[in-house]
Amino acid sequence: MLTQQKEEAIDIAFFIKKIQSALAYRESFYADATTTAFRVLNGEGDGLGGLTIDYFDGYYLFTWYSLGIFEFRSLILEAFQQSVSFKGLYQKKRFDSKGKYLDDKDDFLLGTQAPAPLLIKENGVTFSIYLDDGAMTGLFLDQREVRKTLRDKYAKNKKLLNTFSYTGAFSVFAALGGALETTSVDLAKRSLPKTTEQFENNHIDAAKQNIVVEDVFLYFKYALRKKMLFDIVVADPPSFARSKKHTFSANKDYVKLLKEIIQITKVGGVIVASTNAASFSMMRFHDFIATAFKELKGKYKVLESYSLPKDFRVYEKFQEGNYLKVVFIRKIK
Ligand code: SAH
Repeated sequence: MLTQQKEEAIDIAFFIKKIQSALAYRESFYADATTTAFRVLNGEGDGLGGLTIDYFDGYYLFTWYSLGIFEFRSLILEAFQQSVSFKGLYQKKRFDSKGKYLDDKDDFLLGTQAPAPLLIKENGVTFSIYLDDGAMTGLFLDQREVRKTLRDKYAKNKKLLNTFSYTGAFSVFAALGGALETTSVDLAKRSLPKTTEQFENNHIDAAKQNIVVEDVFLYFKYALRKKMLFDIVVADPPSFARSKKHTFSANKDYVKLLKEIIQITKVGGVIVASTNAASFSMMRFHDFIATAFKELKGKYKVLESYSLPKDFRVYEKFQEGNYLKVVFIRKIK
């Protein structure tokens, strides 16, 4: 539903109003030269359910999550062009019944094409973004504050394990924060070149970091057998994933995941537990943490927690829209 006022017409003026107020809300982001990638329109939070728009250094990426809103695409794109100056526009279609990305030959829409990679900055750190390379761009913008916190407050002189590491963004921030060593583990083969690239963007010798292409659940077994212990372990798994040997569902398996992690975290070390599962609340997530430590007869202290950053605006009557939950946990025993 796009409007709650019965009289409100859904015409170009309607979309211009939504887009302009969304942009105005992000004014401080545009003004900050150290971060050149952020969300400018976040679905319901900005009064346009089913559509998100992300900004990447002059380029904009539209993601359509419902066929309903996609039907309005010409009006929306016209309204956008009247409201914003840009280098180029891209789109992803995710209105498949399961939210799966529909792979078009081309995700480019109009304007000029972005270089591949497109180099953006996040709090001064450089990342390669690919606007036309499948479902994901290389960086999940909603973790911005978590990455900064990891770099600025936790990483110095620490040994970090980054599980479900994708392009290694947490590892890059940790290395820049002075981590002694980072280990990034992801099942996907692409994670090796992609993580290497993100390190090199920031003049970090990737050969001195560990990048492991493996199922994390196998890696946990290996680490336990080798009696490896880490100062910091980051876990940011997908809500649901199937590998050859495992099916992981955050809802059902997060406790099990935490138990594996607790065992390879030093006493006094920090676990950064993250989930983007919209199916459970922060309160429930805290229950998972309590259960995992209890079952291992351990003890912990919650240091701080995060949900979505300001640019991922959430509609106050739809708090379920605030799917991100990140908790920094100190292992005490
Ligand atoms: N934490 C990442 C984003 C994770 S995206 C970041 O901050 O950028 C989810 C990743 O989990 C994908 O790259 C996928 O390949 C990986 N993955 C899914 N199941 C896995 C498994 N069993 N073992 C290792 N990696 C897995």
